[in-house]
Amino acid sequence: MSNRDNKTDVILIGAGIMSATLGTILKELAPDWEITMFEKLAKAGEESSNEWNNAGTGHAALCELNYTVEKADGTIDISKAITINEQFQVSLQFWSHLVHNKLINNPQDFITPLPHMSLVQGEQNVNFLKKRFEALSANPLFQGMEFSDDPKQLKDWIPLIMNDRSSDEPIAATKIDSGTDVNFGALTRMLFNHLEEQQVQLNYKHSVEDIKRTNDGRWELKIRNLEKGTVERHTAKFVFVGGGGGSLHLLQKSGIPEGKHIGGFPVSGLFMVCNNPEIVKRHHAKVYGKAKVGAPPMSVPHLDTRFIDNKKSLLFGPFAGFSPKFLKTGSMFDLITSVKPHNLLTMLSAGAKNMPLTKYLIQQVLLSKEKRMDELREFIPDAKSEDWDLVVAGQRVQVIKDTEAGKGTLQFGTEVVSAADGSIAALLGASPGASTAVHVMLQVLSKCFPEQMKEWEPKIKEMIPSYGLTLLENPELLQEVHTTTAEALRLTEKEQVNS
Ligand SMILES: Cc1cc2nc3c(=O)[nH]c(=O)nc-3n(C[C@H](O)[C@H](O)[C@H](O)COP(=O)(O)OP(=O)(O)OC[C@H]3O[C@@H](n4cnc5c(N)ncnc54)[C@H](O)[C@@H]3O)c2cc1C
Repeated sequence: MSNRDNKTDVILIGAGIMSATLGTILKELAPDWEITMFEKLAKAGEESSNEWNNAGTGHAALCELNYTVEKADGTIDISKAITINEQFQVSLQFWSHLVHNKLINNPQDFITPLPHMSLVQGEQNVNFLKKRFEALSANPLFQGMEFSDDPKQLKDWIPLIMNDRSSDEPIAATKIDSGTDVNFGALTRMLFNHLEEQQVQLNYKHSVEDIKRTNDGRWELKIRNLEKGTVERHTAKFVFVGGGGGSLHLLQKSGIPEGKHIGGFPVSGLFMVCNNPEIVKRHHAKVYGKAKVGAPPMSVPHLDTRFIDNKKSLLFGPFAGFSPKFLKTGSMFDLITSVKPHNLLTMLSAGAKNMPLTKYLIQQVLLSKEKRMDELREFIPDAKSEDWDLVVAGQRVQVIKDTEAGKGTLQFGTEVVSAADGSIAALLGASPGASTAVHVMLQVLSKCFPEQMKEWEPKIKEMIPSYGLTLLENPELLQEVHTTTAEALRLTEKEQVNS
């Protein structure tokens, strides 16, 4: 590939976990390719990937009740949970490869073992949880999951939540010790440090303003150097649009037909954080509840122990909300400027269909701190307002597209949109998010570099032994992956909880 000034092989837009992951994988597979990254902020991992802008859950479907739905016949569909768990195992294997090969130093700087729990109240919910437990615990991917509806056992697992609980409603929880808290911000920064050492050119305070196809089939990016106020033009054979919430606008600018008829709906998030050490030390888990009726799946309430900068804190939320911005640092015009003639009908249909959701989000924005404390008190009955502060989390832009379910359908997953010739790919959507970054970036590679995949396969298998296989169908490999990743990422070292 070429090597001239302002001409590069690969351009990564955005310094979030997705670009970091793609750049790192590409450097392993094609070390000679020149890679250049442009990020409009001053540092890597400052938007959704930042540790305070997301919940840091290593999503493996161990505790998220929305990944297991009850079917009309009363049985539990665990297919989505299996898919997400398999995808998280891919991330664990890749991160273990990075540790083994000293591409990142200390795994404890970004990943910490932490029990994942689901907690429900009320007879109907307890019955659902029990059925869910029976379906999952029989599956080797979820080995080690426990269930209890005994308040004494629950007090031992979650003392802070069970203390002062007066209600005599049935209550039950599942617990699995192989969960994790992941500091995706720290991981993003580690990966970009590694990429810098690999001569990847990292350009911060550079905002990509336009993307055009050139006559020779390359992509030309118009980039504003925000420090100097100058405009630069850079070309590449392949562009990855990893702009998080900013990706939809950039995809639209590229003009590729695959980017048409797609819209975005921003959902903002707020957490409450507790730094009082006396309270923090009484909780040691991520405890996910059930979403309220009418709430979108990403606003399932959870009470999490977090490990950030070697400090333990508690996070509760997220409270969803509405803001027209597509990035936390975005513009109030993001939503309106994303409406184009080609997606107008899609957006209008979505608007008409999702009035209850919009109403719910606006109500959420208007909640007072005391109202939010009331929601927290459903988890911690004796929570005191003075121990909890509000933090504004990242923006999630949900994809809106026309599907078999109808025009303007709101999607809650992630979508890789790429040109037919594989020269440009964008990542839209935010769930299950950073946890599945490695799986999603492998999808980008297979869509955009089908010819190279055969040659790259041995190296990918070295990095991710389960590549091309499902762990569920390969029990020995599953055991090996569980053991080796837990060892490499030091996930077997437990911390003591004080009640
Ligand atoms: C409230 C909340 C909770 C979440 N919880 C979890 C969780 O528990 N677990 C999980 O796995 N995932 C979670 N996620 C999702 C996860 O955070 C995201 O999926 C992930 O961080 C997205 O990474 P990214 O690299 O695509 O985007 P980002 O991290 O947002 O990075 C995009 C970057 O592109 C830059 N950019 C944008 N436009 C331009 C431009 N024109 N020019 C130059 N640069 C540009 C931005 O400044 C930004 O730095 C959560 C998200 C939110 C908002």
